[in-house]
Amino acid sequence: MSEINHKIKGKVILAGAGPGDPELLTIKAFRYLQQADVVIVDRLVSETILSEYTRKEALILGVGKQCRQGASTPQSTINELLVEYALQGKLVVRLKGGDVSIFSNVLDELNTLVAHRIDYEIIPGITAALGAAAYAGIPLTARDHSTAVRFLTWYKQDVFDAAYWTELAGTNDTLVFYMSSEPLDQLVQNLLQYGIGKDKWLAVIEQATTPMQHVYNSPIHDYLPGRKGNTYVSPTLIIIGKVAALHESFQWLPESCCKEHYFRPVEKNNLPEMARA
Ligand code: SAH
Repeated sequence: MSEINHKIKGKVILAGAGPGDPELLTIKAFRYLQQADVVIVDRLVSETILSEYTRKEALILGVGKQCRQGASTPQSTINELLVEYALQGKLVVRLKGGDVSIFSNVLDELNTLVAHRIDYEIIPGITAALGAAAYAGIPLTARDHSTAVRFLTWYKQDVFDAAYWTELAGTNDTLVFYMSSEPLDQLVQNLLQYGIGKDKWLAVIEQATTPMQHVYNSPIHDYLPGRKGNTYVSPTLIIIGKVAALHESFQWLPESCCKEHYFRPVEKNNLPEMARA
């Protein structure tokens, strides 16, 4: 009986797509995409992955989320889609930008799958920090520069107390900030106020690993005089630490002067039918 159940129940593959460059997908995710009946995909996934690595018959549903900008698919809708198709016996690939587990809602999806006793696998992906660091020529824990790396996010409303700011400003760990380019001026201001050293650099990497990648790099103390009020093309990642200076010596990807979006911004008409209802 349980075997029959297993056969009629589908399966969900939670897979990371990497940060942009379609060739940064794992072979395992690629193999599943080639078999998938349904692909439920985030905004920060290369369209080339969908057009070239999936079956023509596959149903592709975009469930974009764009932080702090109106249009986004509610998580409950994404959960319902996973359950609906898996219970129809379909092989569903839930494809997320970067890695599955870094700054994502995978926990909600896992809870939903477990609650419905749906089989799943988790396939890691190259997270934006690693993709951006590699494509900007910044070794995140270069010897004599840093012995650790931290993945963080900060928005003005997020409360870091004074002790935490002091620690962040004083550490030699490399700090990588996701989803933090909007409040970047304030972030830099706070680190300066809490005494970050003159040997620390800041790299802002727009659209990392895509043909539109652009890197802004400077000592952190020079950032506000030169770039205060600057806005960046989404998605953007921030690397702070001594290692960020290494970009000057080891950048290998030509700078793009193109300001176009590699990933389509979320619009109401990119969302699946259910989300629009
Ligand atoms: N799960 C993803 C992160 C999702 S949060 C991962 O592992 O990479 C979304 C944030 O990731 C963006 O706001 C941005 O800070 C970062 N990001 C994702 N892709 C990026 C890219 N190609 N270039 C720069 N930053 C990126």
